[in-house]
Amino acid sequence: MGALREVKLYKTDAVVLRAINNRDVDQLLVLFSQEYGKMRVMAYGARKTTSRKRGAVQPLCFSRFLLHQGREIDSVSQCEGLEAFPELLIELSRLCYASYVVELVENSTIEGEASEIVFRLLLETLRQLGKNDAELVARAFALKLVTLAGYKPVLHSCASCHRSLIGREVGFSPAAGGILCMDCARNKPPDSFIRCNRGTVEILKLMLVWELSKLEQLKVDAGTRRELRTLLKAHIEYYLGYQCKTERFIEMLGGSSATLNNA
Ligand SMILES: [Zn+2]
Repeated sequence: MGALREVKLYKTDAVVLRAINNRDVDQLLVLFSQEYGKMRVMAYGARKTTSRKRGAVQPLCFSRFLLHQGREIDSVSQCEGLEAFPELLIELSRLCYASYVVELVENSTIEGEASEIVFRLLLETLRQLGKNDAELVARAFALKLVTLAGYKPVLHSCASCHRSLIGREVGFSPAAGGILCMDCARNKPPDSFIRCNRGTVEILKLMLVWELSKLEQLKVDAGTRRELRTLLKAHIEYYLGYQCKTERFIEMLGGSSATLNNA
């Protein structure tokens, strides 16, 4: 009589970052789990119309998984949806910013490295994206995420001479670590920094410390939104070393929430 093979099952709560079709009916899922961080698992048969897994394996779903340990890759044994965020699926702008958020999480985290704080931030961001100013929530999320990764931009004084910022205009240089006063910026090559308004820096400072739910109190004009996008994009590209595909899509559609909703 052969020895019975032990079946190893374990449970985890996770957000589905991405679902990639595999063969006819299977899906490879990229999850961000509370207990294990980023992970890849197979959901066999998930695309069958009769599959019980279908709902809970959709991208942006927060689900509870019972996973089966495999030799090559773990697979979904059972799953149930905990939260589905339907508001994100009915408005293009909210969906775009939610895609931006999950793309940033997938590309800035290491497989198997758990982070309770990133997990909570992700979940709260998905909740707020559905009811708050989605663009500001997504920008604040990006700023908080790069800060958690250890790349907090210097915002309270000049990153080069450390003096307080004066005047309406300042520079932003990812290589210098954040904001530059115009005296320091002028000594650098013109293409090494981005000119922006001090008002934009004030918004970034609030985004860093405020809860996401509070952001709807901010009145942010289109010009400031454009600057927030440009600054954060440059900072993320410099420190995380990759170009966000969803960001390029948002730019193509015109960027602001109003334009996206009319697209
Ligand atoms: Zn300076």
